[in-house]
Amino acid sequence: MNDEIKEKYLKAGKIASRIRDQAADMMTAGTLLLDVAEFVESETVRLGGKSAFPTNLATDNIAAHYTPHSQDPLKFRPGELVKLDLGVHVDGYIADTAVTVEISTDRWAPLIGASHDSLEMVLDSVGPGMLVRNIGGIIERTVRSRGFEPISNLTGHSLERFNLHAGLSIPNILDESPADLKPGMAIAIEPFATTGVGRVAGRKSGNIFKLIRIKETGDTELDDIIKQIHDEFLFLPFPERWVAKRTERPDKVLKRLLRHGNIATYPILSEIKGGLVSQVEHTVLITEKGGIVTTR
Ligand code: MN
Ligand code: MN
Repeated sequence: MNDEIKEKYLKAGKIASRIRDQAADMMTAGTLLLDVAEFVESETVRLGGKSAFPTNLATDNIAAHYTPHSQDPLKFRPGELVKLDLGVHVDGYIADTAVTVEISTDRWAPLIGASHDSLEMVLDSVGPGMLVRNIGGIIERTVRSRGFEPISNLTGHSLERFNLHAGLSIPNILDESPADLKPGMAIAIEPFATTGVGRVAGRKSGNIFKLIRIKETGDTELDDIIKQIHDEFLFLPFPERWVAKRTERPDKVLKRLLRHGNIATYPILSEIKGGLVSQVEHTVLITEKGGIVTTR
């Protein structure tokens, strides 16, 4: 990785961590989820980055892939456990980071601590040559030692330019993967801990989409929006909210784009037994000398 690319990763990380901390402070009882998501995405642009994916605000047993829709009335409520997960890119070089906030109460600090501490344990030893299964092993051991379960079918991932999930998975359990970390890689490590059994499933589709092909439909309105999506996001995920700012009938347009096979939707992922879920995430650059956390 040359210095120019490294600087872009570092800049994205700095923007993402600053916004993550400010947005976490905004997450108080009575605040609209929508206001937090829009703060994250407008600050991203103001600070010189672009959104790498829609702001995820996943509550309680929801682990990932919930973002508020354009008319979303949901407000944070006391006692909720909310995962804030955001992505910033600079010229395609991505920072992916997450934190868990408990609204008004302090009941689930041990659950949040389990994912937090397991990530810190990994970051203490991450570097070139480390087997990704051993990252999973540290996470699994640490989370279990606190009396919780890691989520086995959610993983961290490698990052490449304009590519959020670039092929390498970073497991949250000790699995069979033979892969190791190599200098020049960028990776996101994201331990999930739960009071449930440690698996998630997608039950219904959410408000997050991505372009999967740019082939024209023949319909002027649809083809225009396809072009706009591609110009703004390439093949990175985008929210319904963005479409709602550009068309009168976002639901109808999105449904038609789905039917034409131009876009795909991300199902909202929930813990299968309804367990509460915590998550913490940092992005790390692997260098010859070790790991550099971009999102501190
Ligand atoms: Mn993330
Ligand atoms: Mn991630």
